[in-house]
Amino acid sequence: METTDNPGSADNKREHRTAFVFSEKFLRHQPLASDDVESSSRLKAIIRKIESAQFYPPLLSVEPEMHPEICKYIELVHSREHIDRVEMQAHSTIICRLAASAILSGIDAVMENRVKNAFCAVRPPGHHAFDKGPFGFCYFNNVAIGARYLQKKWKLKKILIVDWDFHHGNGTEEAFYDDPSVLYFSTHKLEAFPRTGLRERQGIGEGFGFNINIPLPCGTTDREILDAYKEELVPAADNFRPDFILISAGFDSRKGDLLGDFDVTDAGFSRLTGIVMDIAAKHCSSRIVSVLEGGYNFKGLASAVEAHLATLRQP
Ligand SMILES: [Zn+2]
Repeated sequence: METTDNPGSADNKREHRTAFVFSEKFLRHQPLASDDVESSSRLKAIIRKIESAQFYPPLLSVEPEMHPEICKYIELVHSREHIDRVEMQAHSTIICRLAASAILSGIDAVMENRVKNAFCAVRPPGHHAFDKGPFGFCYFNNVAIGARYLQKKWKLKKILIVDWDFHHGNGTEEAFYDDPSVLYFSTHKLEAFPRTGLRERQGIGEGFGFNINIPLPCGTTDREILDAYKEELVPAADNFRPDFILISAGFDSRKGDLLGDFDVTDAGFSRLTGIVMDIAAKHCSSRIVSVLEGGYNFKGLASAVEAHLATLRQP
């Protein structure tokens, strides 16, 4: 990874560049239970892998700072009651806020045309966090806050959120259930935590048709998840024509995960990434910000992230 932007270098071909958004502070986040699998070892494994990967052109390393208005943007997704509860429950409220800020940094890097896309290696994850409370390992819903930031700050109208985490992003679904400006697409195992994500849940009111849940069975392979993306996501995205794409990139859907029982391989994640990139190239000038969610087999998580990044940074 390089640490600074270098406008005079061969890296001027920015249209194909990827930012890696990470802060050492994310390692210090303490989940409520000390034996949680959502530990700092997850990010340490990713960093070790990325540092040895020698991507060329290199990733643009972005160290996120606390966004001066982060609370304003958090409040577009979460109630004041929720924010107060996080203050009381989480040992690391500041780090939860910094994780949300990191997504805004990734978005700014893309919107300011410094890169085409970004991957945010953050803890804690976010897609289970509700309007009124933390849930699972999640405190603030990072991607939902990112979607609202894109609409408020950058005046983009339509945001597509693609969620390939093994678990259903119930918090994200709730945030946009009646909202036609955000299309939420999730593949997940229905019987797993949090036991939500029925196909019949398609949104409500004006938001009907903008919530797409694809439950998949135990042992789901690359072919099966890719078919869901090709047959269900691609036509829905073509209808929707997003202005920006956010990925809830959970890698607990990878083969061998401690909390998941899908069999998606690293090559499968590369191809999923490629499908999302094709949608982004067609509709929104290739703009994607991908945000780490789950993934609890450290070695598997790191190699899946490497495959995801290797694809993201390709032309
Ligand atoms: Zn998960």
